Amino acid sequence: MRIDILTTFPEMFGAEPPAALGVSIPGRARRSGLVEIQPTNIRDFAPPPHRRTDDRPFGGGPGMVMLAQPLWDAVSAAEAADPRPVTRLLMSPQGEPLRQQTVEELARLPRLLIIAGHYEGIDERVIQKLAPREISVGDYVLSGGELAAMVLIDAVVRLLPGALGHAEGAHQESFGAPPAADAIGAPVPAKMLRELGLPAGARLLDCPHYTRPRVWEGVDVPEALLSGDHQAVARWRLQQMLERTRARRPDLLEGDHGAGQ
Ligand code: SAH
Repeated sequence: MRIDILTTFPEMFGAEPPAALGVSIPGRARRSGLVEIQPTNIRDFAPPPHRRTDDRPFGGGPGMVMLAQPLWDAVSAAEAADPRPVTRLLMSPQGEPLRQQTVEELARLPRLLIIAGHYEGIDERVIQKLAPREISVGDYVLSGGELAAMVLIDAVVRLLPGALGHAEGAHQESFGAPPAADAIGAPVPAKMLRELGLPAGARLLDCPHYTRPRVWEGVDVPEALLSGDHQAVARWRLQQMLERTRARRPDLLEGDHGAGQ
């Protein structure tokens, strides 16, 4: 997969530690060639000598607005650099909320081009002309789209086949479809699944996890996990997932969560 990112802060997307996308799973995926992350500096497409990428808003008021032309030219240049069909994304607080379903969908594409806005925002005319899919990472306002783009990139890259090592495993995680094939470390009894009666599209939060020591600060690891009985472990985990989801995110059980997005 190739991911282009259009930004005025390309140095944030370094491929080596300690850059956020140069460590851990995304860092490894880049070094092994699973994903190519290619920043383009919008400033390089702004007119010299000042190379301004923003200007004051028509109608007055505070803040600056990103210019249409440098962004348009930067997108054209980035897109011409590779023949794969590209999906344009714009990080925006006004976009559709980012969900795991969206991440799964994006991870199947050959190429993404992500635009990170800055300042007050971007001249609306270039947004209309580029017609990107607008994506938000939550109902709050960031200073720029770079951190939002990194959140999206990290979530997408870890789903690329081969990105996760055996030890990390993406077999069952929060927002997964319940329960995936070998979901929770053992086949889930068919009867249990029937009893769940979850609607299609429902998603579950992950169960709690424990490691050594067996007793910590006087608190024991749950008995079911020590039994060595795979079915009992699977049942316990699924029960925990359901309980957690009911308690914390009942909306995930409704089924059409995120549908149509
Ligand atoms: N004036 C705009 C906010 C601009 S914030 C408004 O009120 O809608 C500057 C840039 O940060 C945006 O262009 C966008 O790229 C990024 N950004 C801010 N909050 C974001 C969020 N919640 N999700 C994704 N991107 C965000």
